[in-house]
Amino acid sequence: MTFDCDLFVIGGGSGGVRAARIAAAEGGARVHLAEEYRMGGTCVIRGCVPKKLMVFASSYPGALEEARAYGWNVTLGGFDWLAFRAKLDAELDRLEAAYRGNLIRAGVTIHDTRAVLVDAHTVRLASGETMTAKHILVSTGARPFVPEVQGAELALTSNDMFKLEALPKRLLVVGGGYIASEFACIFSGLGVEVAQYYRGAQILRGFDDEARGHVAEAMRARGIAIHCGTDVMAMERDGAGVKVTATDGHDRTFDAVLYATGRVPNSGGLGLEPLGVKLGRNGQIVVDGYSQTAVPSIYAVGDVTDRMNLTPVAIREGHAFAETVFKGNPVMADHDLVASAVFTQPELGSVGLTEEAARAQEPIEVYSAAFRPMRTAFAGQEDRVLMKLIVSQSSRKVLGCHIVAPEAGELIQLAAIAIKMGATKEDFDRTVAVHPTMAEELVTLRTPTRKA
Ligand code: NDP
Repeated sequence: MTFDCDLFVIGGGSGGVRAARIAAAEGGARVHLAEEYRMGGTCVIRGCVPKKLMVFASSYPGALEEARAYGWNVTLGGFDWLAFRAKLDAELDRLEAAYRGNLIRAGVTIHDTRAVLVDAHTVRLASGETMTAKHILVSTGARPFVPEVQGAELALTSNDMFKLEALPKRLLVVGGGYIASEFACIFSGLGVEVAQYYRGAQILRGFDDEARGHVAEAMRARGIAIHCGTDVMAMERDGAGVKVTATDGHDRTFDAVLYATGRVPNSGGLGLEPLGVKLGRNGQIVVDGYSQTAVPSIYAVGDVTDRMNLTPVAIREGHAFAETVFKGNPVMADHDLVASAVFTQPELGSVGLTEEAARAQEPIEVYSAAFRPMRTAFAGQEDRVLMKLIVSQSSRKVLGCHIVAPEAGELIQLAAIAIKMGATKEDFDRTVAVHPTMAEELVTLRTPTRKA
């Protein structure tokens, strides 16, 4: 059977774009890609990239305060949100054009439209045109989820935060995950009065407990009102604001309410299930280690598969798919020991097992140090950093590393190399410190804080 193309990719985000480029440029495949919104997907358009630029923007008040402590005669003027937003938009336009250019240079044909599946080898574009493909890759990502609550239509999601016409004076963030905690810090840094409601006992569930506590304490010290064990019961308009009735018995009014209560895979309306593609309980496409669905010609990568919802993981999955299917080199994406960072202020960098997970697995030693780093201590600030290693008592391998510190995202990337290589505590110990740094603590932690 002959097909119109070798690969049709639905979704131009991190995973889909990587797969398309590798299949076309290195695998010699005839590749088409359809994207209904903007090229680059969540990471580039409404996720990691604009978020990180907002993190930078929000860090200046603290930096100027610190500068004064170092003898600089500086005063903080106002923040011009609309000027920043215009620069942000221009940067996203530039990145989108770069993604598009890279695809075209690789020989990929782009369709700026929605595509759905008709059968195991056919897609239909919004124009009604159909195309046949030997393989179809679904990389449609995920979208914010807002639970059913009275007044839910008043909630903003992370998608809206980059497009605000003005900064709110008082913001409520609902949720305790990556997105909620990051936005709480960003808007607090930008001068907004921020409250965060989280239904559980401590924010950042899934991360190391000690590190979670450390981040929450630092966020509170910066003025974020974190209310744990608190959820929204109802929201209603209150003048220009939103009155929020909470489970803690309080009604409070905010100018804006951001729901960051998780994300759901974009698997609906694509025609997947009638073809035999299996979906999980959350709507995620079920795939095997090679990202293949229950229908052999259909593959899926990235957040739509809800495996590990991180851009670099989607990129690896897309790349592995292209290697496997178009380069005759079967590769499974490796989801083990993937480091990640939460860009709160301070950041949380994490790789491997938490103390709690490691303890449940085997006898461990915990090495943990919390201290005031030189830079902020000199400025008279109370900020403390946390450096923590979890070590197997039997193999001596470092099973996990958790860092709460400025630039923890940068630090954990390097620790992750050693841990991925199987470094033992003794390997860390025989590495000579770089002085004076915060990270030298990772190679000078001599005595276990506790054994478990
Ligand atoms: P998360 O799953 O991390 O967090 C969702 C939060 O919302 C949790 O605190 C959860 O509570 C809470 N929640 C869920 N449902 C409800 C509900 N019905 N009512 C009240 N609260 C609720 O999702 P995010 O949206 O923050 O992020 C999605 C994913 O995107 C992350 O898991 C991560 O993989 C990725 N991401 C990565 C980033 C990075 O690498 N820096 C940045 C941003 C996103 P509970 O804990 O009780 O379940």
